[in-house]
Amino acid sequence: MNIFQRVKGAVSVPEAARHYGMQVHRSNMACCPFHNDRTPSLKLNESYYYCFGCQASGDVVNLTAELLGVRNYDAAKALVTDFGITGDGSQPRISIQRSNPRRGLYSDKEIRCYRAMAGYLRLLRVWQAHYAPKSPEDEVDERFAEACQNICYAEAMIEGLAIGKPEEREALADMLLAEGTIERLEGRIVLGKEDLQYEQPDTEFIH
Ligand SMILES: [Zn+2]
Repeated sequence: MNIFQRVKGAVSVPEAARHYGMQVHRSNMACCPFHNDRTPSLKLNESYYYCFGCQASGDVVNLTAELLGVRNYDAAKALVTDFGITGDGSQPRISIQRSNPRRGLYSDKEIRCYRAMAGYLRLLRVWQAHYAPKSPEDEVDERFAEACQNICYAEAMIEGLAIGKPEEREALADMLLAEGTIERLEGRIVLGKEDLQYEQPDTEFIH
């Protein structure tokens, strides 16, 4: 489990919102910090938020980053400190194999992981845009919920796989493959293929 997953498992969106000074009203609605909001239009669900005014959405890390004015990674670290989150023992130790020096080339398994993550992120962005609820009473589509919860995670994984040091990339790829994440995501991508027809041509995607 990485820091993003640990934080998301430990702190709900409403908890973080209250902790960092947001006033949370009935039905977990709050004034949106992403736009100039006079009536509460931000819906705080347990694991993600969504604004009916400006369509901002994200998870507990994204909200904390906005409220603290820091990057996602620093927001995750702040949550760890402020909520006293300790390692749960299941965090895999990244073993650095210095005896196997690499020259920065991507291995087949790293490329497979990167493609799966990038394809999944592309799908999540489509889901987030296409299946967004229209009003607070609407039942939430599970694809939209999954997108709000996992976009930040997928971006962090892609970053690690793309620009990590060779030994870090390899350890990350090994972990993702060992825990079955990549196989699961490849299945999601196949199932969600038809949704890509909703992809906005002007959106920037990582291919
Ligand atoms: Zn808003």
